[in-house]
Amino acid sequence: MKPWLGPEESAAVAEVIASGWVAQGPKTAEFERAFAARQGVEHGVATSSCTAALHLALLVAGVGPGDDVVVPSFSFIATANAPTYVGARPVFADVEPETGNVTAETVAAVLTPATRAVIAVDQGGMPVDLDPLRRLCDEAGLVLIEDAACGVGSTHRGSPVGTGADVTAWSFHPRKILTTGEGGMLTTNRADWADRARRLREHAMDVSAAERHRTLLAPQETYTEIGFNYRMTDVQAAIGLVQLGRLDAMVARRRELVDVYRAALGDLPLRLIDDPAWGTSNFQSFWIEVLPHFPVDREGLLERLAAAGISARRGIMAAHRQPAHADPALSLPVTERLTDTTLILPLHHGLDADSMERIISAIRAAGTDTLGQSTPAYSAGAVS
Ligand SMILES: *Cc1c(COP(=O)(O)O)cnc(C)c1O
Repeated sequence: MKPWLGPEESAAVAEVIASGWVAQGPKTAEFERAFAARQGVEHGVATSSCTAALHLALLVAGVGPGDDVVVPSFSFIATANAPTYVGARPVFADVEPETGNVTAETVAAVLTPATRAVIAVDQGGMPVDLDPLRRLCDEAGLVLIEDAACGVGSTHRGSPVGTGADVTAWSFHPRKILTTGEGGMLTTNRADWADRARRLREHAMDVSAAERHRTLLAPQETYTEIGFNYRMTDVQAAIGLVQLGRLDAMVARRRELVDVYRAALGDLPLRLIDDPAWGTSNFQSFWIEVLPHFPVDREGLLERLAAAGISARRGIMAAHRQPAHADPALSLPVTERLTDTTLILPLHHGLDADSMERIISAIRAAGTDTLGQSTPAYSAGAVS
């Protein structure tokens, strides 16, 4: 991954610096409005990270001590950590192999009487199958939170992802396509939740810094509850506004490169992740599953690529295997299979034809080591 930044971002930052207002202010407000409009939601609240946005999402949803929150283990660890920040317990649901996302079935299987919320992730940009989850949450009276950290530019039934959840969290870390360096956003259609999140991110002050600086005699602020400093800066927001204008081009370029990978690797015993029936991915992570009849396993393929000067990455982690959340008794078969057999291929706008050729050749060389042996036809159902 490599962020797509250009002179436009530099100029936008220079303008903010020249203005003398570098902390959260008018540019952040402009970015919030532009981002929410692009995502088809009423309110955007910019934050210092997606992790901060997840924390605020749980707070405004009223999740607290004694509550259970269903999350995938198959996700970056921030998803599992967030419930613990409000004193709740993360309960791990398994995922479906096709997308790496939770489903209504895997979530329903782990509901407890204490479940208050579900955090559904658009893993690696793959849109989660939201409608069945929405029905499940409505019937059970649960808050549906979407962790769309990786999902900007992905679609669900023709709309941007995130519009069907009660509240959605986004990341602008450089690993996630649209970047502000660090940064995040909370989006929601609920005005009351957006207002509270806006206050909580700024020490729960009832008058924002921007408002206090608007007049010579600043209004007296009140701190309505315990808040946080989860603010974005105007320097970051200026970058975000330029990046938002690049979003369509960024996604289109990634999807072009994925098509190249697909055409070149489709005959090997690898499973290449693809759009689900209900939406399109931005391919924030283009992962492949190394099937059992591939000549080398996942670690072997990573080593072969490294030997050819190519850095790929192990697939998504499993939080329930980390000391921070370890549960030795827990078995999540699909999560465990995917975390052990997948890897994420290099993918960014700057990959030229030569680089793609080099990566593809290295994978093909590893995949045809046993040339002459017949390669069984792939069947998703047969993978164990
Ligand atoms: C990266 C990521 C996060 C955390 O994002 P930050 O902006 O770095 O806090 C949360 N959830 C998922 C699924 C992620 O991939």
